[in-house]
Amino acid sequence: MLQKKIEEALNEQINAEFWSAYLYLSMSLHFENEGRKGMANWFRIQFQEEQAHALALIEYVNARDGKVILKPIAEVPSNWDSPKAAFEATLEHEKKVTASINNLYAMAEEAMDFATRQKLNTFIAEQVEEEESVRQIIDDLTLIGNDGTGLLQIDRELGSRTYTAPQL
Ligand code: MG
Repeated sequence: MLQKKIEEALNEQINAEFWSAYLYLSMSLHFENEGRKGMANWFRIQFQEEQAHALALIEYVNARDGKVILKPIAEVPSNWDSPKAAFEATLEHEKKVTASINNLYAMAEEAMDFATRQKLNTFIAEQVEEEESVRQIIDDLTLIGNDGTGLLQIDRELGSRTYTAPQL
């Protein structure tokens, strides 16, 4: 049985993962609208990943005989000034997610809930990958600046990415 405060914190994290999914779907739709299909594809993959994060936490709470309560998902932005602005917003958001998972980990450790702590290990590793991947795209976008050919190339590359379910 999960301790109440851990159960609540996990529920908050589930909501945050769904909010992330919602944010990335919004970004995907924005780029679809702008005719950047590759970026739309990349954000659509992120949307799927975030749902996988939420579902993995839901399954974990259930496995521990806790109760998942789905709360409303807050509104997300729908416009970004440039591709770089959207990817920078993504990196900033992922840093916040990393901090919140770190807090959860510390809370689990303090509560001597070692099963939750262990579950979070995969999420911590996942955050390192997410941040690194977004940082790489930002670096590429910085490098090309306003070069149309470069932007097209990045868009094509991001369009070739496919979704692989994260191992959580
Ligand atoms: Mg996530």
